[in-house]
Amino acid sequence: MKTLDGWMAERMGLAGPLTRPALAAWQAERLREAIAYARAASPFYRARRDWPAAAIASTADIARLPFTFAADLSRNDPPLLALSQADVARVVTLPSSGTSGPPKRLHFSPEDREATIDYFVHGMGLFTRRGDRVAVAFPGGAAGGIVDGLAVALGRLGADCRRAAPPFDPEALAAWLRAERPDVVVGAPVPLLAAARVASCAAGAALRARAVLLSSDHVAPSLARSIGAAFGAEVFQHWGMTETGYGGAVDCAEHCGCHLRENELLVETVDPDSGAPARPGAVGVVVVTTLRGRAVPLLRYRTGDLARLIETPCRCGSILRRLDGFSGRASEAITMPGGGALSLPRLDDALFAVQAVSDFAATFDEGPPATLSLSIAAPPALHGGAVLEAVRARLANDTVVGPAVRERRLSLELSLADAILFRREGKRRLSKREAAECARRC
Ligand SMILES: [Zn+2]
Repeated sequence: MKTLDGWMAERMGLAGPLTRPALAAWQAERLREAIAYARAASPFYRARRDWPAAAIASTADIARLPFTFAADLSRNDPPLLALSQADVARVVTLPSSGTSGPPKRLHFSPEDREATIDYFVHGMGLFTRRGDRVAVAFPGGAAGGIVDGLAVALGRLGADCRRAAPPFDPEALAAWLRAERPDVVVGAPVPLLAAARVASCAAGAALRARAVLLSSDHVAPSLARSIGAAFGAEVFQHWGMTETGYGGAVDCAEHCGCHLRENELLVETVDPDSGAPARPGAVGVVVVTTLRGRAVPLLRYRTGDLARLIETPCRCGSILRRLDGFSGRASEAITMPGGGALSLPRLDDALFAVQAVSDFAATFDEGPPATLSLSIAAPPALHGGAVLEAVRARLANDTVVGPAVRERRLSLELSLADAILFRREGKRRLSKREAAECARRC
């Protein structure tokens, strides 16, 4: 199996070892083509009038282009689709990230789909061997297109793709994983952790795998450690979304950031407020441009995900840029009274460090008084009733939540939840109740 760099160089038609200058020049050329294609074929981009006058000379010039927002995709007027319906191989409908508004609809051509499968072959190939049994467990809406594509990719690798069937309650998932005896497990982080927690306190063999790939949600460091320990596995992470053709960036054996799929995506990070390029090393909103997307070309699409872009070469030898420091969704960022940022990844890292916690729901009410309500799911056999005290103690050590609670700027409300949390629809979120909304409601 080639390295990701070697595979990408081959797909880009670049000879010799991949270098940053060669990749940047190739991307600049694709960027010019992508802009021309979008302006010619996509009604949304054809109707835009805010294009820069000067030509795009390098990838850095992308900052002069206007953004595309999630709202543009869900409004779909004018439509973004650049192909006729007859040339579309797959349509995926996603609920909008807010509670209202039309859903986002993404289209994929056969070429888009093949590019994703090819990426899966080489991404999964980093830790999957011929003959491996690969257990794929994506709950709810994440299944469908992504699992089908993964199954094709695993077939090309000579591996056996086993798919978990819903429901995804922890007991059923733990039993399935135990019966499948996989070499590699792929799934969303929290359901896999919950299954591992349940398995650890039930009779029967522990869950085992050589490698676990976590995708479709951010992965808190404490959660990755817990899953690694529970499965006795090396844990890899993947970042991507439907808008990036599912594939986006994948972890290497050095585990110091996810290497970007730079043969398809030009990725920037920008300041959430100003939209200016994020400072080097700072967390910003991830903005993607599809360099070769045929059905729905996206130019400077604001994904809403917060992360840090690393430009320096990796210890693994790759020159591909990396994303790390995943910090949740920009739309869910909460500034605490008295300072400090609260996010779901921060809460994840604190709560999943508590051995018994297998899931939780969080709501921040800005009050007054500002209140963080946490509804916590935990197998009783693992905590004997002491889980809420353990969570409170762990949050006391958090550098944002701890001082806010001690200084009475934040009130904590903890309760135990039943397993209904695991059957949630869509993404995990940090819910927010704002003062104005409360005033209207009250
Ligand atoms: Zn690396």
